Amino acid sequence: MTSDVLSSKELSKINPVFGQLSFDNHEQIVFCNDKDTGLKAIIGIHNTVLGPALGGTRMWNYNNEWEALNDALRLSRGMTFKSAITGLNLGGGKAVIIGDAKTQKTPELMRRFGEFVHSLSGKYITAEDVGMTTADMDIVREVTPYVTGISESKGGAGNPSPITAYGVFMGMKAAANFRYGSDILEDKNVFVQGIGHVGESLVEHLTNEGAKVTIADINQERLEEVRAKYDVTIYGGQDIYSEPMDIYAPCALGATINDDTIHKLRADIIAGAANNQLADEVKHGKMLQEKNILYAPDFLINAGGIINVYAELENYDRQEIIRKTENIYNTTLEILDRAKANNITTNVAAMSIAKERIETRKREQQK
Ligand code: NAD
Repeated sequence: MTSDVLSSKELSKINPVFGQLSFDNHEQIVFCNDKDTGLKAIIGIHNTVLGPALGGTRMWNYNNEWEALNDALRLSRGMTFKSAITGLNLGGGKAVIIGDAKTQKTPELMRRFGEFVHSLSGKYITAEDVGMTTADMDIVREVTPYVTGISESKGGAGNPSPITAYGVFMGMKAAANFRYGSDILEDKNVFVQGIGHVGESLVEHLTNEGAKVTIADINQERLEEVRAKYDVTIYGGQDIYSEPMDIYAPCALGATINDDTIHKLRADIIAGAANNQLADEVKHGKMLQEKNILYAPDFLINAGGIINVYAELENYDRQEIIRKTENIYNTTLEILDRAKANNITTNVAAMSIAKERIETRKREQQK
């Protein structure tokens, strides 16, 4: 059979790495295996034109290796554009560890993972993502300097999640300004899906401003914990995507805006922390535009975390971290304006600015 009669799914099996749909000219993909600790990890290095590829490590119980590889490919690519649009001199990378963070994560496994990171000599710099904590990064730091997001007592900038949440809050306010003519979120009906490290902190900002917040999570204990602290409602329905709301804030995992959910969505604005919210950024970006749902691109508004860890490399202080994070408000408005002026999706508008920056640097390097 020739390739033109094979489906993309069949092709991706014949060409299991470079043939993946999520493959986008990644520079390097590293498969890490260690029998003694049970470590199975994939490090994706998407692009290093602007600097070393920095991005967190996610530990997740993937259903299969395809899922893990695609996550590494999609997430590392996202980091390239996130750093580019935020004006940081960093490339895009990300790592995934296959396994259950609650039961399979051990100090030995983290140390071994750190050794793999070290073997890349700084081309990839890690940090925490879902399933990871600053304490895990402290362990990685024992074997390599190529790690950020370590604890403050060890010279790091600490947990990036509150800064990420603050940036998301800024992006959400900018989107509200664009949509409603005011960035005050008081009385806005906001659904926060996933109230982990970032989600909870976002809930705090929102409730402080008087937004009407509904929270959803698959972890019942977390829901109770968060409700005990803030004035929120726990979502009790069956299908969050069908609920009328002003703002949908996806703060769990990616791809929640997909063929199944997009038709049901009735929000005015989508602004959340999760990476890769659009299952298909071209198709679903366009569909959101047609439905007049304003999408604040995830890689733009969730950049607070990378701004925070970048401070560890560049030695800037807390004030500068806050200033750069608050600037997400201005960049978001700029992108929403650009999208409107050119009748393109907000995602395309953000990507075009990020790509311009990378291409300009590439041309300078080639001179
Ligand atoms: P976390 O692991 O602390 O929290 C994720 C939460 O989502 C958990 O409470 C989990 O139970 C919940 N969840 C998982 N699946 C769910 C589902 N189907 N429905 C509802 N809830 C579900 O992670 P985090 O650090 O808060 O990150 C959240 C998201 O933001 C992730 O997509 C992450 O990649 C992204 N992000 C995080 C940072 C950061 O600084 N931590 C930075 C940028 C982007």
